[in-house]
Order: sequence, then C-alpha cells, then structure tokens
Amino acid sequence: MPSFDKKEQTLDPENWDDLISLGHNMLNDMMGFLRNVRNHNIVPIPDEVTATIQEPLPLNPQGYERTYKEFLQNVLPYPVPGVHPCFWGFVMGTGSPLGVLAEMLAAAMNSNGPNYFAPFHIERQVIEWLKEVMHFPQEASGVLVSGGSMANFTGLAVARNAKSGVDIKKRGLQGIPDKMVLYALTEAHKCITRAVELLGLGSEALRLIPVDEHFKIDLTELQEAIDNDMKAGFRPFCIIGNAGSVNTGAFDDLNGLADLCKKHDLWLHVDGAFGAWAKLSSTHRQYTRGMDRADSLAFDLHKWMYMPYEIGCTLVRDKEAHCKTFIYEAEYLEDIFERHDPTNYSVQLSRNFKALKPWMLLKADGLEKYAQLIQQNIDQAYYLAELVNKSPELELVAPVSLNIVCFRYFDSHLSDNDLTELNKQILLHLWLSNLVPSYTTLNGKYTLRVCITNHRSERQDFDRLVTEVIKLGKSLMQNP
Ligand SMILES: *Cc1c(COP(=O)(O)O)cnc(C)c1O
Repeated sequence: MPSFDKKEQTLDPENWDDLISLGHNMLNDMMGFLRNVRNHNIVPIPDEVTATIQEPLPLNPQGYERTYKEFLQNVLPYPVPGVHPCFWGFVMGTGSPLGVLAEMLAAAMNSNGPNYFAPFHIERQVIEWLKEVMHFPQEASGVLVSGGSMANFTGLAVARNAKSGVDIKKRGLQGIPDKMVLYALTEAHKCITRAVELLGLGSEALRLIPVDEHFKIDLTELQEAIDNDMKAGFRPFCIIGNAGSVNTGAFDDLNGLADLCKKHDLWLHVDGAFGAWAKLSSTHRQYTRGMDRADSLAFDLHKWMYMPYEIGCTLVRDKEAHCKTFIYEAEYLEDIFERHDPTNYSVQLSRNFKALKPWMLLKADGLEKYAQLIQQNIDQAYYLAELVNKSPELELVAPVSLNIVCFRYFDSHLSDNDLTELNKQILLHLWLSNLVPSYTTLNGKYTLRVCITNHRSERQDFDRLVTEVIKLGKSLMQNP
C-alpha cells in the first residue's frame, strides 16, 4: 500500500485570493496594453532579452508573481505586431479585447468532448452560422480547425479520398492504377503544396497554372492542362480555386472553375483563407460568386474576422465523404461520439473549445459589425491606391481587387535592380517608424505590400504611410 501521510498535491493555488488578485492585475495590464497599443513601439526582441530567456529547465518553483513580472519585462514588449494599428504585413490577424476574454473562458472550461456537453452544441451552432454566411447547403458539414493551412489540408484530404475510386483508407495511393493530379494557380498559397505533399500525392501532381494579368487562374491554360493530363493517362481529380490570393487578393473565376469541375467530374476546393469574408462586403460580394458551388471551402476566422489565433474552418458539401475520410472505428469511442462529431471531421481527437470565441463574438458584436469592418478595410485599400495613383513618385504594381495594395517607390531614371534596392531600404526604414507593410515580387517587380485585415487602422494611417514612403524614397535617392 502506498502511504498517504502527506496531504495530496494539486495545481490549484494554496491561496485562491492571491491568485485572483494577480489575475485581476493581469486583466488590467492586458486591457491597458490593448487600449494603448497605438503608442506601442514596434521593436524586434533585443539579443540581451533573448539571452535572459535561455534558462535551465526550471525544476523548482519561482512563484506566480515573479514569473508574471518576467512576462511583463521580457515577453509582452515584443509581440508579433499584428495588434498594432499600422501593421499590414503578410495576412495578419489583429485579435480583439473581447476575444481575449473569450479565450480565458474557454480555457477555464478546458473542454474536450462529446455531444452531451455544451461545447459540442456551441460548435455545431457556429458551423450552422458559417454555412449560412458562406451560402453552403444545410446538409453540408463543417469543422473548426487551427487555421487556413489545416482547413485546406482537411478539404483536400476529403477530395483525395472521395475521388480516388478505391478504398483508399485501406489501399492508399498504391492501390490507385492511374496517377491522381490536381490543379491550382501559380499564386496558390504554399500550404496547398504542403497539403499535397503530406497527402502522399507528391508536389509533381500539383499542376500550377499561370495567372492572367489580373492574377486569376487562366481558364484556357487550365482546360489545356486537364486535356493533356487525361491524354497522358493521368487522373485529374480536383481544382483548387482562390478566393482572395495571398499576394494580391485576386479571386479566380469560381463559376468558371465550377463549370470545368462539373464537365470533368472534378472536386472543387476553394481556398478562401481571408477572401471568403468578402461575402460580407456590399461592394465586393460579387467576387465570391460561385464560391458556394465548391465541394469544400477553407477559410479562417483569425485573419479577417479579427478573432484571436487559432481558428479556421472547413466546410464540405458532402458530409458523408467528410466523415468517411477521418472516422476511425475504435470500440472505446463508439458510444461516446456520434458519427457526425467534429472528432470525425478532422485529424484531431482532442480539441480545444475553439467554438466559444466565434459564438461569443458574433453574438456580442453582431455579424453586421464584422461586415462593416471588412468593408472599412476594403475602402481603406482603395483609398490608399488612390493616394498612390495621385503621387508621381509611386507606382501601383498590381490592380487592387480587395484589401491588398502592392506599390513601390518609382523613378524612371532607375533600373529595376536599383528600384528593388531602394524599395527594400524604404521597407526597412518604414518598420522603424511603426509602419509595417511586407513585400512581395510580382512579375519580377519587388513591391511593398499592404494587406489590410486590421480593425484598428484609420484612414490617416495610410496618409502617413504614403507621405513617409515618398519622403524616404527621396532622401534615400539623395543619400543612398
Ligand atoms: C494565410 C493563408 C493561408 C494559410 O492560413 P493559416 O491560417 O496561416 O494556416 C492559406 N491561404 C491563404 C490565401 C492565406 O492567406
């Protein structure tokens, strides 16, 4: 018999009142941080601070207070600056104060489980709402996942299995006589390639089709590629369309893609990571036409819906195909999970209570609020493009089609190489003035890229950006 001469241990605090009081301080500090985030200086983490983080594995307690103090000193001042009103790099989420609180509530419940508890029903309800927003049929299925990459992987896994024509779960790709191939545009996000690799298809199976001058997939080239593959004995099974490409925000002709899929009996998967939310825009809703004809749609809520990381979603038109892909027959789970449980819709068995934040935030703010914010970001992008067009020193490098503006400082006396160097320098200096676009290369041109998925940005921030780019360009030309 083990002896229990001491009182059992627990992770609950010895003194609850102390922890509650520390928690109140944390809440005050974090809301204070967000309230003043506009005044936050965007600085990379200094080497001295990184050095202090590299410590031996802590075996003994240093206590709550001291650990929190270290967080305030060494961690909080150096966030990935997506929270800042002038962060427009990559496609970054902003998060929201209420989102922070929702995360805390979900963490306290620490839920992971089946349908006789509330979280299951909250997720089911959120999926119902998301299907409605995206105009997916009621019979469709959906699952919340970590983000766009996982959402795309999930949709493509269902596509591969549904279109394989064999019992692929048992036989794998080795059981398929003809090589399966699929199509995306050259501007597809890299997570598509990763998904194709992980699904065992091999990146060679992913045919990357060139884009036209609007950065959309070229339908004629696509049709040709399909014809050639069929002639050569390959087995085309899927087309991946873009609803908002990562570089320029361009939308493919999704109806055109859906027609092609119908003609050749292919699966249409749409990557709408942030662009799917154009559905909420009064001026750009029409870009998403045909998106609701997709067999699977991937999007996230942590970019353009401003919710805290991580949250993405996959919707699948054929819920049986969805379930069949992931369900595992395990006796010890049979009585616990329904067939159409989120657990049978993705790779994960244990899952955190992701659904609480969209449920709370949508109810608390109302969808209309998010529609207005998305529209605001689109309007800001067109406003910025107008400022660029009005400035002889600046050049728009791609047409604006949604919330992304690609432009560079331009001078006709400079070669393309010199322009690249100059704009690289400009970007470096912008970061030092708390203005944070990122960059990309379009048709060989290095360009600043402003992607607006930020509910804190104001119009004057874009005035400041343009003024600063012109000022920097001029002064760097004089003193390179
Ligand atoms: C960001 C993005 C992804 C990947 O999404 P994550 O949430 O970062 O995993 C996929 N496609 C597009 C178009 C994106 O912008």
